[in-house]
Amino acid sequence: MMRPLTRLAPSPTGALHLGNARTFLANWLLARQNGWKMLLRIEDLDGPRIKRAADQQLVEDLRWLGLDWDEGPIYQSNRLEIYQAAVQQLLKDGMAYPCVCSRKEVELAASAPHSVDGATVYPGTCRDKYDSPESALRLGGRAPAIRFHVRDQSIQFTDRFCGTHRFDVQRQLGDFVITKADRTPAYQLAVVVDDAEMNVTDVIRGDDLLDSTPRQILLYRALGLGASVPTYCHLPLVVGMDGRRLAKRHGDTRLSAYRERGVRPERLLALLARWCGIECADQASRPTDLVARFRLEDVPGNPIIFRPEDEAWLMAVPQ
Ligand code: GLU
Repeated sequence: MMRPLTRLAPSPTGALHLGNARTFLANWLLARQNGWKMLLRIEDLDGPRIKRAADQQLVEDLRWLGLDWDEGPIYQSNRLEIYQAAVQQLLKDGMAYPCVCSRKEVELAASAPHSVDGATVYPGTCRDKYDSPESALRLGGRAPAIRFHVRDQSIQFTDRFCGTHRFDVQRQLGDFVITKADRTPAYQLAVVVDDAEMNVTDVIRGDDLLDSTPRQILLYRALGLGASVPTYCHLPLVVGMDGRRLAKRHGDTRLSAYRERGVRPERLLALLARWCGIECADQASRPTDLVARFRLEDVPGNPIIFRPEDEAWLMAVPQ
């Protein structure tokens, strides 16, 4: 039997902060505990949002924390042809179509309802309209994006952490973009192509991506890879006192910023460990010391709130 495999898949759109470091620690602990192989994949396709050298900083921050991996880093930007081939296949099989609608037009479409993630459900304006991306460009007057046609069905999956979920994909999510108008592969497509080709069996990530999962399962099936759908595990995010996902407005929670202020990795690790449900004294020496004590069922089921006391505790020198 093939050895299970998971991945750390950071986007170099910014530095590693307490929130994503905590998800990576949980991912790492689960992998090491179960003897899964781990790879590091840098998801650097989101052109304008990618920050220069953020990939190196991410690698440095993960190492500083004491996390490691067996393979990689693998860069998505080196794999463009592989994604393009998958999109060509979906177009050829009638599973996807070119779309020239701008974001504004989609939002303005009077009847467009809102999806589970608050974005507008695409009303299908360009579905069955153009027979190729070239004709969409010619007739629509704009470089087209490519959308996946979801059809009327429901997708159900059982998450390792948060149980069974069912999505009525057409009504709740709608046809979604798999290639942007600038020809960059979209996240949903790249992640499925990679996870499938790299034989990823277990995906651990923040629950902000829970509603990406039915889209990704659809893509697996459409690409003839339905038997390779991984087991998903979505963990609640770290939020600020206002209940919103940890971000700049909550202060500088970048690992590199704490390091510069003299915080030891052991101290930081202890806070992240507590957020993973491991009772920790003042410091945790190394991630390897936490492996035997981690239990997925002890991970809090609600978002973790990063409080001013946590910040003060991080900055205090342990006695
Ligand atoms: N690169 C994505 C992120 O940083 C994670 C994607 C995934 O785990 O599927 O949010």
